[in-house]
Amino acid sequence: MPEKPQHEVTAAEDPALAFQTHDHRHCVGTMLARAEAVCADKGLRLTPVRRRVLEILLETHKALGAYEVLDRLAADGFGHQPPVAYRALDFLVTHGLAHRIQRLNAFAACMHTTDDSDAGHEAVFLICRDCNALAEAPGLRLRAALEAAAAGADFAVEGAAIEAIGLCARCRAAAGEGNDNAGVGA
Ligand SMILES: [Zn+2]
Ligand SMILES: [Zn+2]
Ligand SMILES: [Zn+2]
Repeated sequence: MPEKPQHEVTAAEDPALAFQTHDHRHCVGTMLARAEAVCADKGLRLTPVRRRVLEILLETHKALGAYEVLDRLAADGFGHQPPVAYRALDFLVTHGLAHRIQRLNAFAACMHTTDDSDAGHEAVFLICRDCNALAEAPGLRLRAALEAAAAGADFAVEGAAIEAIGLCARCRAAAGEGNDNAGVGA
C-alpha cells in the first residue's frame, strides 16, 4: 500500500482517505474550523446544538439518519425532540456544512474546504455498499456534463444529487482475497 503523507492531510484534500485508516482528527478539526469561519463570515450562529450535530456527523465518514442524530443529542442532554435535530440538520445543509444523502435518507458532514461556499459546491458522493463509508469528491466537471445534457432538452438544472454506490478499495481487496481462495481450492 503506498504511503501517504499523514500530516495535516484530510479527506477534503484526498477523498480516498474516507475509505482508509487515517488520522481523522485532522478531518474533524479542519471541518469544524471551516464551519466556524463560514458562520462568522455570514453572520450565522453556530449554536451549541448545531455544533454538536456537526461533531456527531463528523465522527466517521458515514452518513447518519436523523433519528440516529437525535438519539445522540438526547444522550448529550439536548432533549429528545425531533424538531431540534431536524432544525440543526436543516441549518447545516442550508449553509453547505452538511449534505443530505438521498439514497441513504441520511446526512453527512461536508468534506469540502474551498472558499467558494457561496457558489454552492457540486459534489459527487461515493458510497461503499459494504463498509458504508462515504466520500465526497469534487463534482464540477460532472455537473458541467449534466448541464450540457440538460441543455440538449432545453432544461435548466437547478440541483442534482450525484450519488454513486459501489465498493471502496479496501472492500474490493477483501472481496478479491475471498475469490483468490476459492480459486485455489477449485
Ligand atoms: Zn477523516
Ligand atoms: Zn460538501
Ligand atoms: Zn468499503
